[in-house]
Amino acid sequence: MDCEECRRLLAEEYLDESLAKKLEGICPNCQCEVYSMGFNSPGPVANEETLFRLLVSPRDYDPTTDLISKQPFEKLFATGLSVMRSIGSNDDFVGMAEENLGSKPDSPFRRVRALCSALAKEIRSIKDASDHQSFCIYDQIVPRRYKAGLDPISTHAGVFQREIKAGVDGAKRLNKDLALEAYKLFTKQHLGVEDFRDHLFSDINEKAARGDFINNEQAT
Ligand SMILES: [Zn+2]
Repeated sequence: MDCEECRRLLAEEYLDESLAKKLEGICPNCQCEVYSMGFNSPGPVANEETLFRLLVSPRDYDPTTDLISKQPFEKLFATGLSVMRSIGSNDDFVGMAEENLGSKPDSPFRRVRALCSALAKEIRSIKDASDHQSFCIYDQIVPRRYKAGLDPISTHAGVFQREIKAGVDGAKRLNKDLALEAYKLFTKQHLGVEDFRDHLFSDINEKAARGDFINNEQAT
């Protein structure tokens, strides 16, 4: 086990599609969850914390059907699912939105549309057939690109799926089923954007509507 290497991977290789695999390779079974992974983060993610996923693309959330796409949850066994911790300040949540609203002029319009959430404890209680925890949650800070001069967002977390390796009977199916369980937990109850912290995202959504984020690089 080499948690220094986990810290480095989480900080530097956060866009790497094999990040979840690499973390499992170095520190299997979520062993690093008890240590702080993010420089200057408030510490490991406690079971009582709620994790919020921001839904920004029209592909993520369809208000007419009220359905949330499964697609972002495929990141669970790639780069990890990017979430905000309930202990995050309003500034941190707005900062995270800023990092996520960038788009190309011809791509679908992004704004904070809704949020979905789950308790860390519930995510950690998803077990595989061998009764092992299937998802690790790390305090992964996010470097800013939109406001590059500011400190990283320290109250962000990454959720990583521990992939059942090819070779196990039906591994692919089992991995999908586990990811689906996480999806169901996160989407069991979701919030309209106006219901989150007294219209916290109103200003940023107005900026988005004015086109302020067009041509900014996407973070996640
Ligand atoms: Zn580690």
